[in-house]
Amino acid sequence: MAETDTPQHTVGHSVRVRCCIVGGGPAGMMLGYLLGRAGIDVVVLEKHADFFRDFRGDTVHPSTLQLMDELGLIDGFLKLPHQRLQTMDGLFGGTKVRIADLSRLNTKYPFIAFMPQWDFLNFLRKAGGRFASLKVMMSTEAVDLIRRGETIAGVRAETPDGTVDIEADLTVACDGRHSTVRERAGLEVKEIGAPMDVLWFRAGRKPDETENLFARIEPGRMMVTFDRGDYWQCAYVIAKGQYDAVKARGLQALLDDVVRMAPVLRSGVADVKSFDDIKLLTVAINRLPRWTRPGLLCIGDAAHAMSPVGGVGVNLAVQDAVATANLLAEKLQRGCPSEDELDTVRRRREFPVKMTQAMQVIVQNNIIRGALQGGDHPLKVPLLLRLISASPWLQGIAARFVALGVRPEHVRSKAAPASGIQ
Ligand SMILES: Cc1cc2nc3c(=O)[nH]c(=O)nc-3n(C[C@H](O)[C@H](O)[C@H](O)COP(=O)(O)OP(=O)(O)OC[C@H]3O[C@@H](n4cnc5c(N)ncnc54)[C@H](O)[C@@H]3O)c2cc1C
Repeated sequence: MAETDTPQHTVGHSVRVRCCIVGGGPAGMMLGYLLGRAGIDVVVLEKHADFFRDFRGDTVHPSTLQLMDELGLIDGFLKLPHQRLQTMDGLFGGTKVRIADLSRLNTKYPFIAFMPQWDFLNFLRKAGGRFASLKVMMSTEAVDLIRRGETIAGVRAETPDGTVDIEADLTVACDGRHSTVRERAGLEVKEIGAPMDVLWFRAGRKPDETENLFARIEPGRMMVTFDRGDYWQCAYVIAKGQYDAVKARGLQALLDDVVRMAPVLRSGVADVKSFDDIKLLTVAINRLPRWTRPGLLCIGDAAHAMSPVGGVGVNLAVQDAVATANLLAEKLQRGCPSEDELDTVRRRREFPVKMTQAMQVIVQNNIIRGALQGGDHPLKVPLLLRLISASPWLQGIAARFVALGVRPEHVRSKAAPASGIQ
């Protein structure tokens, strides 16, 4: 991709907005909703035609449920089909351990709601439909930045009808862990690393198949299963870079291992007919030391990819969006905030990100790495897990960390009078 210096280049047509959000994931759709609610002229670009992709996290944590409540959206949201998780129990080398108990939380919604992410995103899109200043452009892929000198002045995008230049006072990169925007902006990514990758697949579930276990750890293997109503969502953890070796052993060998660990999946794994039914999640933990350029801000996975440990990626992305609206919506009414003002988002959100990633690294190094190394000896429950399992108080702390996170955000940005809501 070549950098463009519009408006000199000839393009199909151009659009001018106050804020252009690239990426319609949890960060982008929530920020679009909040800025639309504040009456700011905002467009969200999503490169896919819809939100229907399996390869997404689908945990909605109490912190996000609380935000939906603050936005007056919770009743409609909880009418969507979902499952609720309150206790997290694991089987560690045959020993049952309780990792977290959300019922101990003093919060309005003490459970994790499992909901397909497309339902969540479609819900936000529909709810935002009442804001005249919010536009969501599907099938629109940002391919390049528009620059005016040192300032990012929008993006060039490909649409089914051709190229469009979206000129914006502020561009927000919400385009995920492989962000094109941040790459084009030359922002450095600091890799922290992870010892594992994850195989993500669904296995059919019969109504009478129930099991409260959430994680299973054995020498050399680890698996997490979520009851999703008519299917089990499975995350089979492998040592980093071992996917080719798993494939070389063949599908049946993998499914045999899966069933050995989780007999409840015996009939359901028939749904996994080939490796095409299995998605590889290359686990990454990274973050940007700098989240901004003049006219540009990165949030969500584009600013910090999280490990799947704790299933917190969606919720951190949403929290970033809320913090961005809290800190910048009013300033955006007048134009683009200065780079220093944009950087207030990093200054607010970097601490929760660093703390969460540090905790993920502790879990990776103390629990996952050892388990994946395998060996002939029976697995011993690591000290950290033994302590948590023995103490309901520590289970409450773990629940708080996972469910509410560090420094949870609350909606402070104002709704524009014209939006008709408070
Ligand atoms: C298999 C898997 C399982 C996961 N499980 C969990 C879980 O259980 N719980 C959890 O909390 N997190 C989980 N995560 C992580 C979670 O999905 C992410 O942290 C979260 O979605 C980040 O939100 P985001 O909005 O920043 O980015 P994303 O969700 O990645 O959204 C980015 C969006 O931008 C769009 N896009 C990308 N490039 C462009 C472009 N150039 N132009 C226009 N649009 C573009 C993409 O299509 C996408 O819709 C999982 C991730 C994966 C891959």
